[in-house]
Amino acid sequence: MRAQPFRFFENVPVLRTELLSPSQLRIVFGGAALAGFASGGRDQSLSLFLPQPGQSKPWIPIDAGDNWFAEWRATDLAVRSVMRAYTAREHRPETGELDIDFVPHADGGPASRWAAQAQPGHRVTILGPSDGDNRSVAFRPPRDAGCVLIAADETALPAASSILESLPAGTVAKVWIEVPHKSDRRELRTKADAEITWLVHDDRERGQIVRAIQAAALPQHRPYAWIAGESSVVRTLRRHLVTDRHIPKADITFRGYWRLGASEDELRNA
Ligand SMILES: Cc1cc2nc3c(=O)[nH]c(=O)nc-3n(C[C@H](O)[C@H](O)[C@H](O)COP(=O)(O)OP(=O)(O)OC[C@H]3O[C@@H](n4cnc5c(N)ncnc54)[C@H](O)[C@@H]3O)c2cc1C
Repeated sequence: MRAQPFRFFENVPVLRTELLSPSQLRIVFGGAALAGFASGGRDQSLSLFLPQPGQSKPWIPIDAGDNWFAEWRATDLAVRSVMRAYTAREHRPETGELDIDFVPHADGGPASRWAAQAQPGHRVTILGPSDGDNRSVAFRPPRDAGCVLIAADETALPAASSILESLPAGTVAKVWIEVPHKSDRRELRTKADAEITWLVHDDRERGQIVRAIQAAALPQHRPYAWIAGESSVVRTLRRHLVTDRHIPKADITFRGYWRLGASEDELRNA
């Protein structure tokens, strides 16, 4: 596997938008600016750069080469572009189109606001893979895994959906997905033998997924777990799987996709 085969794709236009459900807004990007993009599928992530209010394009010191991040980080928050992590939900090389599913959450972060107002022709810059074999694909079950456990919230639903699509027939999967609204639930495509449990928190506290997994009977033969979503929920779930279920840490992939009460900039600077 090569180190980080990532590069900038500049000024990538929005082609169209589609509201999939109250908590999932699909934005389809494409055009010549995406030529050479190569997703590894599954939970392939990328960085999205958005302009600040009043800027015609996002400010990124691309000319600084490998030093771009240090320069970007040293620049005033009001000037440097907004950088946020997202999932390449689906890339269709034959048409050059890339779907990203955004959660238009009510807490008013700049990425969520941008997505809610996105129109065809609006442009972003993407730091994304130019080689499908890259380290930003985290879902990597061991060869002899007996089953796959997936726990996701609405921000990790795009990744969980594409992971499910990637699983070969015969794979046993137990999946829990917690979403804000009943109408966020939908049919997920998979060839796997998957048991999918949807949890809906409505206006109640999120985290029902924790109780559901704590109460579940889990397959015994070497489960591999993939957990993503709000950081404290992810931490609690991982602790449960390690401490109470005795799943080795190496067989658990976990990632906080966001943290309640903290923006991505605050997390990066913490
Ligand atoms: C590897 C990776 C992949 C990701 N993939 C996706 C994806 O495909 N789709 C997606 O929508 N998100 C995804 N996320 C999560 C996304 O990056 C965060 O939700 C991000 O904080 C959104 O940026 P923002 O500018 O809207 O909010 P920020 O400015 O970062 O945060 C502002 C406020 O909003 C709150 N907030 C952030 N996200 C949410 C939320 N979802 N619900 C409620 N409150 C929230 C924060 O706690 C904060 O108080 C991913 C994150 C990672 C690390």
